[in-house]
This record gives sequence, C-alpha cells and structure tokens, in this order.
Amino acid sequence: MKNIAVIGCTGSIGRQTLDIVRYNPDKYKITGLSCGTHAQELAALSREFSCKKLGIASADKYAELKSLVDGELFCGDDALTAVIDGADTVVVAVVGMIGLKAVLYALKNGKTVALANKESLVAGGGIVTQQLKHGGKIYPVDSEHSAVWQCLQGENDFKRIILTASGGPFYFFDGDLSAVTPEQAVKHPNWSMGKKISVDSATMMNKGLEIIEARWLFNTTDIDYVIHPESIVHSMVEFCDGSVKAQASFPDMRLPIQYALSYPEHAERDYTPLSLPMSLRFLPPDENKFPAPKLAKQAIISGGNSAAVLNAANEAAVKLFLDGKIPFTDIVRIVEHALNTEPKCELKTADDVFGTHNSVYNKIYCKYRGV
Ligand code: MG
Repeated sequence: MKNIAVIGCTGSIGRQTLDIVRYNPDKYKITGLSCGTHAQELAALSREFSCKKLGIASADKYAELKSLVDGELFCGDDALTAVIDGADTVVVAVVGMIGLKAVLYALKNGKTVALANKESLVAGGGIVTQQLKHGGKIYPVDSEHSAVWQCLQGENDFKRIILTASGGPFYFFDGDLSAVTPEQAVKHPNWSMGKKISVDSATMMNKGLEIIEARWLFNTTDIDYVIHPESIVHSMVEFCDGSVKAQASFPDMRLPIQYALSYPEHAERDYTPLSLPMSLRFLPPDENKFPAPKLAKQAIISGGNSAAVLNAANEAAVKLFLDGKIPFTDIVRIVEHALNTEPKCELKTADDVFGTHNSVYNKIYCKYRGV
C-alpha cells in the first residue's frame, strides 16, 4: 500500500489522481489532501477517502473547512507542506510557482514527488535538483516527460529528446491572433486542462516551459520539438545509433499520472485503446507565429534567473489576458521584454527564486492591470 498526498486535489490533475486511487483502493491510500479555496469539495473528499490531514491555502476558507470537517487542518503555506507528512508519494498538482514550496519540502523529507507542477522546476530547477541529495525522487506527470521517461527505461544514455506539441488551438488558425478571446484560447483541441495551462498551450509557452522542465529532469540541452496535432505520440527519444523510441497512447492524463504512482510497473487501468489504423502528422514549428519555445531555449542558455523571469512574466501576462487587460499576442511580447531587460543574477536559495518571481510578476501585473 502506497501512502499518497495530493497537493492541489481539486484541480484537473488532482481530481484525475483521485480517480486513479478510487480505481485502486488496494494499492493506494490518501494520507493528505490540500487545495486553494474549495472547502466543500475538500470536506467531501476527506470523508470519501477517510483522510484527516487537510490543507486549504485560503485563510478565508479555513473557518468554513473547520465547520465542515474534523481533522488535522492547515492553512496558508502549511497547506502546501504539513499535509505531506506521512505520505510516500506526493502528487504536486497545484498551478504556478507556489508549487515550489511543496516540492522542496517533499524532497527535503526524502519523498517521491509525482510532479505535475512545471513552474517549480522551470523557475527553481537548480535548487530543486540539489534537494535530490536527501534521497527523494521526481517522477514526471506531464505527458511529454512521462513519455521520455518511459522511452528511457532500460537505457543508459541517449542523444536527443524530441518533445511533441499539439500546436494548441491556433496552429492552423490564420485569423488575427491579437483578437482572440480568453474563451477561444482555453479551448484545447485534445486535452481537457486548467485555464492557465490551456492559455500556455495556445501561446506555445507550454512547450517552452516543458523544454526547460526536460532540461532539469533529464539533464540535457539537446531538446527539440515537433508539432503533432493528434497528440497520440507523447514524445520521443533518439539514441546514438539513430534509433528513435516513441511513446504513444490515446491522450488521457490519467496514464502519466498513474505511471508516476505505479512505476516501475504499468498497472491495470480502464483505458481507451488507440483506434488503429490512424494517420499521424509531424509538422514543423512556426517560431515566427509562436516564438515562446525559442524564448525558453534562450533562457536555458542564459542560465541564472532567466527561466524564473520568463516564468514569472508569463504567469503575470496570462493572468492579465484572462482578466481582459491585454490582447493574446501581448503575452509572449511581455515575456520577451522581461527576459531582455531584467538584470541577470544567480539564484542560490528558494528565497532568491521567490524574490525574482514576485518582483517580476508584480512589476508586470501593476503596470498593466489598470489598462
Ligand atoms: Mg504537457
């Protein structure tokens, strides 16, 4: 029996993780749950999974949670950390930089992190990977990185990673991108996801963040990407003899989530089989229309705080876009400007990472929020 804590249990990945636990009650036990604001849902999940260690980030919702359920209740930052105690594997499924707190706490305590939060690795990759010295592990939940990880089983070395990208809702769109609305941008053709990641997918910044994520997970800078609109091949790895391994499946996030829980085994699950035969396309990226992945590669080469700057500027710009303050095309423009103008420095501690994040985020958010 594996003890599992889910940080961000009411979001898209969190709910799908709980589906897997429901399907495998003999394999997994939920020992900690936390979320941002959904007190009612958290209380219901606490009863369903007999889980007494509960965290809610919102101080306002803490009293409500207390009135709904008994248990060890935490709020604020403790909701990201204290609920981890007692777990073997921690699914970090919160969106945004706050995930870094949970990841660092889990790794410092030697836990296995099933990582769905990409921002923590993008902004704080150097600091996060240093914490692996305590014996913890990071298992990727992102479908592309899970694919690479699966391709690498039984291998000692590889030459190049080729991430696949669906291209998002606008790869084939030939209208005016500056006029697209948040409603259009969050409609992903193949995956059902939260708002932030859906917008990231529409700008292709999601692929940029994933390139940086791959750099830390697999310790390489030989990372390319290709547009694959069907989202059936989730990524590929090329080896020194020219052999290329790819991992494929019907697009369903429950597969990479479950693999991170069941590794090194492929556990039984109710799945949609690939309906073969089918035709698959692998198309070239258009970096003039979607420059975000290029900016991410630039941030990897620059090192230091560059990826943290890129991530913070993107978080602020996506929020401004979703709030109707800036047009879609300004998102990546704002990120590029931040990357080119913010002073360079090294990030040595988690406080440095949060310092950079907050200063860049607030500067951009305050500049545009009144527009
Ligand atoms: Mg992905």
